[in-house]
Amino acid sequence: MKQKDISALLDEPACAHNKKEKSGCAKPKPGATAGGCTFDGAQIALLPIADVAHIVHGSIACAGNSWDNRGTRSTGPTLFKIGMTTDLTEQDIIMGRGEKRLFHSIKQAIDSYHPAAVFVYNTCVPALIGDDVDSVCKEAEKRWGTPVVPVDAAGFYGTKNLGNRIAGESMVRYVCGGREPDPVPEGIEREGFKVHDIGLVGEYNIAGELWHVMPLFDELGLRVLCTLSGDARFREVQTMHRSEANMMVCSKAMVNVARKLKDAFGTPWFEGSFYGVQDVSQSLRDFARLIDDPDLTARTEELIAREEARIHEALEPWRARLKGRKVLLYTGGVKSWSVISALQDLGMTVVATGTRKSTEEDKARIRELMGEDAVMIDEGNPRKLIDMVRDNDVDILIAGGRNLYTALKARIPFLDINQEREFGYAGYVGMLELAKQLCLTVESPIWEAVRRPAPWTQAQPAIPPGAATTSSADDAPEVEPIAVEANSHA
Ligand code: SF4
Repeated sequence: MKQKDISALLDEPACAHNKKEKSGCAKPKPGATAGGCTFDGAQIALLPIADVAHIVHGSIACAGNSWDNRGTRSTGPTLFKIGMTTDLTEQDIIMGRGEKRLFHSIKQAIDSYHPAAVFVYNTCVPALIGDDVDSVCKEAEKRWGTPVVPVDAAGFYGTKNLGNRIAGESMVRYVCGGREPDPVPEGIEREGFKVHDIGLVGEYNIAGELWHVMPLFDELGLRVLCTLSGDARFREVQTMHRSEANMMVCSKAMVNVARKLKDAFGTPWFEGSFYGVQDVSQSLRDFARLIDDPDLTARTEELIAREEARIHEALEPWRARLKGRKVLLYTGGVKSWSVISALQDLGMTVVATGTRKSTEEDKARIRELMGEDAVMIDEGNPRKLIDMVRDNDVDILIAGGRNLYTALKARIPFLDINQEREFGYAGYVGMLELAKQLCLTVESPIWEAVRRPAPWTQAQPAIPPGAATTSSADDAPEVEPIAVEANSHA
């Protein structure tokens, strides 16, 4: 990839980070984890496309590090779960066999699995030695008649966010517009009920949570042409250009896709979230607003009224258990505000939220939800998080998996909210799951047990004078008491 293409991707006009500086994405600080390389970002963005053979062109280590670590789910094919790599060795590099190996790998993938398409991810080594991945992909596509898409995302190009954008760019450039959507089956549309096509960008179907919202779209007559990329199929991505409205779901990672589809096809888009009752309702309203069909608007309001009444009733017993509980939310980007609204719906108090990857717009929304004095944590380290939990009498830390052991060592109830989570919290139904998991976590008897001082730190009963003892208590070795780190509240 040429430097000017990388600069163009970083200088994304629709990205709010660009309003401050032209760097596009926050650069990692020395000593901090960068959260994956560009290849990693590209791969996790596209891997959920389930019927595609994903081939990593590079040394074996690139493919081994993060394959399918997101817990994304598919309703059908599971080809994406099979890790494929050209496994370049020193010999291949010295003998200049990289392109040949790639060509044969593509053939093997097509012969063995008959995929809908092959995606080839370029990585550092072949990018450095100058393998012409684009030409190999073109040649392979011509030879075997299966679409072969290059994703030029060598790790050294930059950050994981850049990788997300490169992934989106490859989809817009090589895949979108490849075919027209299937016609709407007869008998579905009728007087006052027209089917509208929509798209979801940046929805990964983590723990199957997309399926919480699909029935709502079905009922409203909103046909999801494609989710980029949770539970997606290659042929669906090809039809994205026909969407009437797109939603950027809880992530700015592929904002360039939404922006480019608007520029090229005039598709309006909005940024929304499926976390929290109010946000789900707002997202449905935003679709109705952009599509501008009065009948759809009326049906959307009816559905919202019905679903909100239903979920509020179902949440009542959980609210009683969670009301007033204090939360420290340490996550990034859009989740820094979208989850706040879900927690507030449950009657919980968010004492602070992490804003490391949040934009100025995200921060403005946080202030809207938490008030002008909202505590935002720009740089959180384990010590700071633990101190914050103690100082504010926090009941639960909600964060990403990397903070799990910080919380457990400090004996703080912890809930994983990031991509490795095992439960889907999206949609109205997801709120019930969230409430249940919060209760299970906060009310677990383990916290009381681990916070209880150990028996050997308790004062020993006094020995009556004159009692026969084989040894004096004074002779016993001194035992260092173990510090109880966490606060003593529930
Ligand atoms: S930095 Fe380069 S070598 Fe390392 S995993 Fe990423 S693409 Fe592979």
